[in-house]
Amino acid sequence: MLAPDGQTPRNRAKAAEGRLGSARGLNIYGQPRLVGNDSAPASEGFGGRALAVEDVADVVVIGGGIVGCSIAFEVAGRHPDRSVFLLERGPYLGDGTSTRNSYVLHAGIYYPEDSLKARFCVAGNRALAEFCTRYRIAWQRTGKLVFARMPAEIPVLEALWRQAERNGVEGTEILEAKEMAAKEPHIRGVAALFVPSTAVFDVAQWFRVMEALLYDRAVVVLKRTPVVGLDRKGEFVEVATRNRGCVLARSVVNAAGLHADEVANWLGNVYRIYPVRGDYFSLTDRVSSLVGRAVYPCPGSLGLGIHLTRLWDGTVLVGPDARYVQSKEDYRPPDVLTPDSDLDTGSPEFLKFFLPVKEFFPVVEAKDFRLAHCGIRPCLRAPGEEGFRDFRIEPDPNVPQVIHLLGIDSPGLTASPEIAKHVAQRIDEVLSG
Ligand SMILES: Cc1cc2nc3c(=O)[nH]c(=O)nc-3n(C[C@H](O)[C@H](O)[C@H](O)COP(=O)(O)OP(=O)(O)OC[C@H]3O[C@@H](n4cnc5c(N)ncnc54)[C@H](O)[C@@H]3O)c2cc1C
Repeated sequence: MLAPDGQTPRNRAKAAEGRLGSARGLNIYGQPRLVGNDSAPASEGFGGRALAVEDVADVVVIGGGIVGCSIAFEVAGRHPDRSVFLLERGPYLGDGTSTRNSYVLHAGIYYPEDSLKARFCVAGNRALAEFCTRYRIAWQRTGKLVFARMPAEIPVLEALWRQAERNGVEGTEILEAKEMAAKEPHIRGVAALFVPSTAVFDVAQWFRVMEALLYDRAVVVLKRTPVVGLDRKGEFVEVATRNRGCVLARSVVNAAGLHADEVANWLGNVYRIYPVRGDYFSLTDRVSSLVGRAVYPCPGSLGLGIHLTRLWDGTVLVGPDARYVQSKEDYRPPDVLTPDSDLDTGSPEFLKFFLPVKEFFPVVEAKDFRLAHCGIRPCLRAPGEEGFRDFRIEPDPNVPQVIHLLGIDSPGLTASPEIAKHVAQRIDEVLSG
């Protein structure tokens, strides 16, 4: 198949890889590392025309985040003869949570063994690192330290170490204060859990490469195409879009992230996703050079705590916090700016970040903080609810050829290749059943 510019899809993918931008992205609040490709090579072949009833797709994926893209890529790779449509409402792939996070390949130490989160995270960490190496996407295995501030926290580290062992996370070890200081001399703590497999990767590059690969696999990628309804039509599902008509699908994957509950509820379900926002600051070069890896306090009842993440380009992120919000779309800056748009270092919102970091990283000063970005987690846990919530990946109870993915919060980025394999298997069962 020739692309409109006369190149083969494979050459096109190679060319796109060569055009990859610098690791440091634009610094617009809420969208710090813009993918910025809103005229996709992937949808050119479709000519911008409306979908029509004669467009019968084997698989329609709703949502072009890391999960939806990975699923479309996996399905098209397994069965080149199957028609796969990827419908994204935003102007570019990765318009949702996938480009607004910590960019970490988590190791998988926090989740109960045999949960989807534990299994997919441990395997996804390896798979995504291999993918990044193969397609020359910037990534780095920085490792991570979870430190105890006082001896009373050491049993928490030991419990985490045991959980890591049960989950099959390799190479974790407890460090005494001296060993910890050798790795992170500027971090205050009495002991630490060292997790070597934690890594970071450039998500914006991942999306640029992925878009070219989807094109290579003949996936029809339609951006600026919000799906507005699902309706069972015999053995098919009619997928209605706001602006491009309808497509009949033999199977549908609901990978709409924060909006996956709304999509699922069109079929009569009553799912609910709670948006939980997290904000980030970054540190100036003066102090970011003093941090070698991801540095987390011991997890407590309030979650993972404000932590530091060193990225592949040397940027150090501070955050995120976690707070339930009303809006799934509101990425405006938090209440930390003066009327002149300077950082108000006396504001309670700022001190929430600064004070805990100052305690374990004493050389840092308020002047070292810059407002960075924010993201919104699609959580299944209601406000006030306790306990662990796993990913929910399940066929619709009434229309089983629709597979819903709900509550794909952290470690969804890391888990994405394994989620994709799991869903592709389910689709195989639907289409051969
Ligand atoms: C603050 C924060 C930090 C995090 N840090 C990490 C981390 O370091 N490591 C990690 O592994 N995970 C992390 N996560 C979790 C990770 O970002 C998510 O699990 C992952 O991005 C989910 O991907 P997704 O494709 O399911 O969702 P999204 O990226 O949100 O994609 C869903 C897509 O669906 C589209 N869509 C929605 N409705 C429709 C519709 N009706 N029609 C068409 N398209 C639609 C949206 O525009 C969006 O592009 C973090 C999350 C947050 C918020």
